[in-house]
Amino acid sequence: MSGAALAGAVAGAAYIVAALLFILSLAGLSRHERARGGVVYGMIGMAIALVATVWLMIADVTARASGTSAWAQPTAVLGLVLLVVAVVVGAAIGLWKARTVQMTGMPELIALFHSFVGAAAVLVGWNGALHTEGIAPDLIGIHHAEVFIGVFIGAVTLTGSIVAYLKLSAKMSSRPLTLPGKNALNIGALLVFVALTVWYVITPALWLLIVVTLLALALGWHLVASIGGGDMPVVISMLNSYSGWAAAAAGFLLNNDLLIVTGALVGSSGAYLSYIMCKAMNRSFLSVIAGGFGIEAPAKDGDEVQGEHRETDAAAVADLLGSASTVVITPGYGMAVAQAQYPVADLARRLRERGVQVRFGIHPVAGRLPGHMNVLLAEARVPYDIVLEMDEINDDLASTDVVLVIGANDTVNPAAAEDPGSPIAGMPVLRVWEAANVVVFKRSMASGYAGVANPLFFRENTRMLFGDAKERVQDILATL
Ligand code: NDP
Repeated sequence: MSGAALAGAVAGAAYIVAALLFILSLAGLSRHERARGGVVYGMIGMAIALVATVWLMIADVTARASGTSAWAQPTAVLGLVLLVVAVVVGAAIGLWKARTVQMTGMPELIALFHSFVGAAAVLVGWNGALHTEGIAPDLIGIHHAEVFIGVFIGAVTLTGSIVAYLKLSAKMSSRPLTLPGKNALNIGALLVFVALTVWYVITPALWLLIVVTLLALALGWHLVASIGGGDMPVVISMLNSYSGWAAAAAGFLLNNDLLIVTGALVGSSGAYLSYIMCKAMNRSFLSVIAGGFGIEAPAKDGDEVQGEHRETDAAAVADLLGSASTVVITPGYGMAVAQAQYPVADLARRLRERGVQVRFGIHPVAGRLPGHMNVLLAEARVPYDIVLEMDEINDDLASTDVVLVIGANDTVNPAAAEDPGSPIAGMPVLRVWEAANVVVFKRSMASGYAGVANPLFFRENTRMLFGDAKERVQDILATL
């Protein structure tokens, strides 16, 4: 067996092992307790895949240069050098980002990563279009279809992820863009794509590829710009799914089995996560992936002031907690901003030591990332068994003495349940207002991510505790 054939066989086996490790990784990530192990499986799988790919390239260069010096094959050697440089530079940037990113910056970083996958798929597609030599004539039609579909999915992912990045980092408004006839625009773009694909397979003219690239870039931008703040979580998992399909499309073009399997794993798990999140938020899956298809523009902004709010202070909250026997803490994005999870965990422990029943109620989209709150609470060593999902805690809220709303807003907004004209109408929320007393920790009367005013702040049983959540919780701890 020649060196190149041996390398091919070994790399094939290594790819199967890596794919199995990725499946084990996904299985591990589906439960808190096993998540760390899941990440380790993923890292080992990726290391195996990288080593196998580099080895395959070295074998390829050596085979092409057999009989002469390797330097006689400058293109192949240059490819190898570029690969090593790209891996080193990419790994250095990745390590630096992973070490420096704040937990609150993770969602936009992930959105940016998705855009890189999209860009890579577009480039691989274009490369596939420009280099068709060596492809069997009876397979050329399939090759052209792969190129076209890969470029389309990649370009939608690229601009969609950039808009998601801009919205999440507040560089662009989180309000939905509502162009006249937006649904017709989206459907029209899809129909044009189908027609162009058929055309390109029959006559692969380069201008068709330019048109589909521009069309897909515009569609990706429009799809995500049309989604309102409240639906962004679904968009993030949906873009995760798109990035998987973009990688799978690139895998077909590069003839790389591992990329196809990995892309399909990411694509299908991302699609399933989007579906679960849509169900949890009472949103239509099809409507969200179609850029808010069928969702009318909100009847009103809901941003108007709604009456008088009542303020409280740390000492009064400490008194209230001192006389409570049941307390529920509902954290939101503000807890992540304030990095308040450690004092919050301390507060929960202190109250439990005094015999108070303390539980956490987690909304499925609290924070800016699926599972954001669970990660922060696990980091602060809050026991899993007192951290409950929204559906598990909601019916107990009416019999709770005190609810502490720590930096949450949209996820506890009664307008979602009571006001059919609200932009977040129909989205299930934590019914904190049913408790005897509610204390809201935030810095101002500003609205949450969805930009919707919150009538909870003006309820009889609500008290506002203004200031940074971490400092206020520390003040309460000092008084308790
Ligand atoms: P919200 O964004 O609705 O509210 C967060 C609140 O925290 C704000 O009202 C803010 O008020 C307050 N806050 C910010 N910083 C501090 C601080 N240092 N101390 C105290 N309070 C602070 O968060 P929720 O978690 O309730 O809801 C999540 C929202 O994000 C939903 O609309 C969801 O759809 C969206 N989203 C969720 C994603 C996910 O995957 N989970 C992804 C993308 C979007 P103030 O400024 O007055 O302090």
